[in-house]
Amino acid sequence: MLAIAQEFAPRIRRNEPMSRHTSWHVGGPAEIYFTPRDRADLAAFLQSVPADVPVCWVGLGSNLLVRDGGIAGVVVSMHGTFDRVERTAPDKVHGEAGVACARIARQCIKWGLGPAEFFAGIPGTLGGALAMNAGAFGGETWPHVVEVETIDRGGREHRRAAGEYRVSYRHVEPPVPEEWFLAATLRFEARPPEHRSEVAALLERRKATQPIGEWSCGSVFTNPPGDHAARLIEAARLKGLRIGDASVSIKHANFIIIMALPARPTWRA
Ligand SMILES: Cc1cc2nc3c(=O)[nH]c(=O)nc-3n(C[C@H](O)[C@H](O)[C@H](O)COP(=O)(O)OP(=O)(O)OC[C@H]3O[C@@H](n4cnc5c(N)ncnc54)[C@H](O)[C@@H]3O)c2cc1C
Repeated sequence: MLAIAQEFAPRIRRNEPMSRHTSWHVGGPAEIYFTPRDRADLAAFLQSVPADVPVCWVGLGSNLLVRDGGIAGVVVSMHGTFDRVERTAPDKVHGEAGVACARIARQCIKWGLGPAEFFAGIPGTLGGALAMNAGAFGGETWPHVVEVETIDRGGREHRRAAGEYRVSYRHVEPPVPEEWFLAATLRFEARPPEHRSEVAALLERRKATQPIGEWSCGSVFTNPPGDHAARLIEAARLKGLRIGDASVSIKHANFIIIMALPARPTWRA
């Protein structure tokens, strides 16, 4: 059993099922699941973890597929504690990594800043959005990043400019491995307030075409140049294909949904 200092015990769960922390509702146990109280607690915890123990981060688990065998080592969760978002300048917003993207969208609309509507379409945290360069409705995370604050395995904090990261479609390469996001400063422009209804309309449109509310991780496959993954999956007549509890969504073929219902026969046309 992984030995962890007694002082962290109240914030640790051993063998925590990751199915409780992923939007697919699947995944075996994390050996240690740690929710830090604050930055100092997180730094002290990281310093106490032996160098050969793997450490990984989870946001809202909306883009995570965890194997049934679970996760060896330590999983750090920031949602619920690192969730402050504030306006720090007329055009700047500082968000902690655990804040839900939807809250950033709501706050920006309230402050008359944008374009931040796209954050309303991402059911994850700012930390996850930074790690994935998440985007929706034509907008994405990194064009708004001014700088990030990170923490490394030794519990040391760093401040990095956006330009230090290599960013592409839903992919972000950090300048060094094993450094995780604590917070980010984002830049937006002044916007008229009618954007509130625009967000509602975007979400409604999405609900009409995607299985929102079902257990999924959103779109699974990247669109190839000039085509759509969903169109190709549908053309291959895989819509509705079910293996175990996982099924290609009838509503949107690029979604794999988990159906916690009695199995129907799997079909392949
Ligand atoms: C219904 C649905 C719709 C979706 N629609 C979209 C969409 O339109 N656009 C889109 O881009 N995505 C979409 N997604 C996918 C997902 O919401 C995004 O990828 C999101 O950014 C993941 O954030 P998270 O907090 O849930 O991260 P998690 O899923 O918990 O983690 C994702 C990755 O980020 C890493 N990570 C998390 N926090 C940190 C941190 N603080 N520091 C370093 N690394 C960290 C994790 O280790 C992991 O590698 C959708 C998902 C669902 C379920």
